[in-house]
Amino acid sequence: MERIQRAAKIITSGGTVAFPTETVYGIGANAFDNDACAKIFKAKGRPADNPLIVHVASLAQLGDVASDVPDAIMKALKVVWPGPITLILKKADRMPDTVTASLETVAVRMPAHPVALRLIEASGVPIAAPSANASTRPSPSKASHVIQDLDGKVDMILDGGETAFGLESTIIDATSEKCRLLRPGAFTLEELERYFGKIDVPKSINVTLKESDIAIAPGMKYRHYAPKKMLVAAERDAITQAAEGLKGATVMCSDQVADAIGKHADTIRLGDEANLYEIAKNLFDALRNLDKTKSFAGVIQTFPERGIGFAIMNRVLKASGSKPATSAEELLDRLSR
Ligand code: AMP
Ligand code: MG
Repeated sequence: MERIQRAAKIITSGGTVAFPTETVYGIGANAFDNDACAKIFKAKGRPADNPLIVHVASLAQLGDVASDVPDAIMKALKVVWPGPITLILKKADRMPDTVTASLETVAVRMPAHPVALRLIEASGVPIAAPSANASTRPSPSKASHVIQDLDGKVDMILDGGETAFGLESTIIDATSEKCRLLRPGAFTLEELERYFGKIDVPKSINVTLKESDIAIAPGMKYRHYAPKKMLVAAERDAITQAAEGLKGATVMCSDQVADAIGKHADTIRLGDEANLYEIAKNLFDALRNLDKTKSFAGVIQTFPERGIGFAIMNRVLKASGSKPATSAEELLDRLSR
């Protein structure tokens, strides 16, 4: 794996490397190197008060990044890692302020991707890596998305093909007795509770910022996943009933809804609506492709907020920035504004 050796050299000499994980692509740097991590913020245009997730390749390495990890959490991590779950823990003293945005806590995860794990092992240091998109843009699920946003701004891009989940990790805060959900993600809440006990879900987690005005995690106050075009979320039946009026818009929807729309409007298919993992995987690519169309606006279908659907809806709501339309009339009215 000569490619990974080269990438590791870049990491240890203070550079940045974009690499695949099972969730989305990350842009990484040596987590102990303040200046190297500062390059990530610059490349992404990321606000300095939005901390990074540190990626480790072993539980031993977790000890270099976090401190006072409770036994019960350690026990759960032994089962769920490597995997798409990020924990907020008390930071180790040596963590640089750039990574943690000067908080007393640090976000850590062990990715379940061979390239990511080998890169961390070959570098010999934990790698701080947020998603490898330009700030506010949809996260990259393909190397081509990274090139779109960060070409010339990152020292190397490791291409590992399309990522398995296409949606970011679930983040839980484990710094108090009861764990708290900060961001729904690829690891479903239902499954997580089997290992971490009852998880507190803030009421405002799946509402748009305009509605809540309170950011539950430092990064959540910023605009996220947004395409450049106007985007309206709408319920399944609102879309099918409005189909004839959707000419000129691009509808991102399940195969079933796309079949119902037929030739009335352009569609981007997200997959079979019975397979929400497939919908999740295609979501960010669809949002990026919307901007390449000549349409005046995008419409995105809503999905049931269960299992992975909870994370899908979190991204749909943040990308569209307002409550989904519940009727054909409301959808057409919103599009005409
Ligand atoms: P990204 O890797 O681009 O998905 O962004 C990392 C996410 O982790 C952002 O939403 C951050 O706000 C969140 N995060 C990182 N560190 C912390 C922390 N110490 N406390 C709470 N959230 C964090
Ligand atoms: Mg991100």
